[in-house]
Amino acid sequence: MNLPKLHGVHVPHRKNTAQMPPQRMNAPQTVTIPMSMHIGAPADPVVKVGETVKVGQLIARAGGFVSSPVYASVSGKVKKIDDMLMSTGRFMKAIVIESDGEQTPYEGLTPPEVTDFQSFINAVRDSGVVGLGGAGFPTAVKLGVKDLKQVEVVVVNGAECEPYVTSDTRTMLDDVKWIRRGIELMQKFMGVRRVVIGIEKNKPECVKSMGDMASAMEGVEVMALPALYPQGGEKVLIYHTTGRIVPEGKLPLDAGAIVINCTTLAALAKYMDTGMPLVEKVVTVDGSAVKEPKNVIAPIGASMQSLFDFCGGFKSEPKKVLYGGPMMGIAVPNTDFPVMKNTNAILALDEKDAILPEPTACIRCGSCVDACPLRLMPAAIEAAYNKRNVDRLRELHANLCMECGCCAFVCPAKRMLVQTNKLAKGLIAADNAAKKAEADRKAREAAEKAEKEAAVK
Ligand code: SF4
Ligand code: SF4
Repeated sequence: MNLPKLHGVHVPHRKNTAQMPPQRMNAPQTVTIPMSMHIGAPADPVVKVGETVKVGQLIARAGGFVSSPVYASVSGKVKKIDDMLMSTGRFMKAIVIESDGEQTPYEGLTPPEVTDFQSFINAVRDSGVVGLGGAGFPTAVKLGVKDLKQVEVVVVNGAECEPYVTSDTRTMLDDVKWIRRGIELMQKFMGVRRVVIGIEKNKPECVKSMGDMASAMEGVEVMALPALYPQGGEKVLIYHTTGRIVPEGKLPLDAGAIVINCTTLAALAKYMDTGMPLVEKVVTVDGSAVKEPKNVIAPIGASMQSLFDFCGGFKSEPKKVLYGGPMMGIAVPNTDFPVMKNTNAILALDEKDAILPEPTACIRCGSCVDACPLRLMPAAIEAAYNKRNVDRLRELHANLCMECGCCAFVCPAKRMLVQTNKLAKGLIAADNAAKKAEADRKAREAAEKAEKEAAVK
């Protein structure tokens, strides 16, 4: 396969915890479990304050088709059901459970009965699993395709390209059995014929462990990819593993592909065999302010602070705390925020790593264009956004931006390109909504007019 030159950037590797198998932390005194840890409708609580719950017990039902159920991650008592401020700046309902320290599993846990595609998808939905690589898209919706013939290839995402983050790396080393089981389930119940596991070359142990696994399976291959950020981006990965291009505004399935993160696959398989839904997460805890970086198995809802404490606390004052890696992570104002289903890392950075230099004027060097994996023109998008020129933003395909941060990473003027792209996408969305509202209004008026005319006749 001859593909054009790769775009992207070489980011510092800093995988300090890659050799550290995850350590399980004790249940913290309380967990705060948000009802929205996924894309789509929030889950609806089914427990009341004061109720006793056990690990794996349903505490909130999926709130719609694109949603996901939520389960208790500790045993104990529901202390509070209240709104909490999320890292997005929005308020969201959350269930606070006071742990009894026992971690008693819910007695009703049994592996689901899976006999065909529909019962498989039902079980995927009941597992509470969402895209665990960070996307948080409900996995049952992703796998619940209408026409299975469309699925020509499944790409297993093992290209963990963000600096610091090693939770997927550990899955590929520690949970081979579960990844294999997950692939077998997709082969059996979805009729998947071809599976490609994409892993960056700078993880040779993962390439080997997955390669050994694949050699004993039918229709599974491992592709060692150049270590270039953002190799793990869905569209980038599809292109570099299969040569297929996902058209603008379309889904991977439109290119015959489904991408599933390796940890998501392993979590699904665990549920299918044990009946224990998603209640805990391997989280990489690292950054220049953290005393003893580790991979931690944490109950969902544990506070960031409890994970930092488990890692010996801070060796210097953290100036920036992030959900996720330094390229796409989200900064939070304090360490009270909880581990969520899609949290794969939390970082605490000291002053040296946290302070960003002041932006200066664009020097039109074109580095941002060279770096963009989607061949966008970030400097031009910034100029169009500054003029609020929505038509030009559309021409520049600003909506395609996956906010990977490559452009900002290489920009010598330190322009805030990712933030501007986010705002540009928001501007397009607002314009689309206004146009739709206007079209709906006109259609309504036309219908009313036609109705009146019909009544006169
Ligand atoms: S324009 Fe978007 S997709 Fe391209 S490099 Fe910048 S953040 Fe990434
Ligand atoms: S990399 Fe920065 S300075 Fe260079 S063209 Fe892009 S925005 Fe301008």
